[in-house]
Amino acid sequence: MRLEIRTHARTELVDVTAQVSQAVIASGVSEGIAVVFCPHTTAGVIINEHADPDVAEDILGWLGRTVPRSAEWRHTVEGNADAHVKATLVGSSVTVPVSDGRLSLGTWQGVFFCEFDGPRSRHVEVRVLE
Ligand code: ZN
Repeated sequence: MRLEIRTHARTELVDVTAQVSQAVIASGVSEGIAVVFCPHTTAGVIINEHADPDVAEDILGWLGRTVPRSAEWRHTVEGNADAHVKATLVGSSVTVPVSDGRLSLGTWQGVFFCEFDGPRSRHVEVRVLE
């Protein structure tokens, strides 16, 4: 299943847990795994805390300080070398166990789409396997 994601800032963590949960329900799989894959080179997917929104802001803040857009980069055609590096750091997929037809996430965990070169129209692919 393809999930469409519209981002609204250059860097942004978008909580997609509800949409991924819906994809699991739509799949009809009760015991298995869900894979969320991001097919973009300047975006990624992570699992982290979604109870306190400051955590997502701290993650974005740290990535911004650690991988500044203004550093000396070779990839200057698009001016988004930092976004490629950030996408590499966070990774392009996550895997979540599915039990009783639901995502087996920890109490505080959510699935986030990570935008590093927005705003753009993006998507992720969700596959639920028995
Ligand atoms: Zn680029």
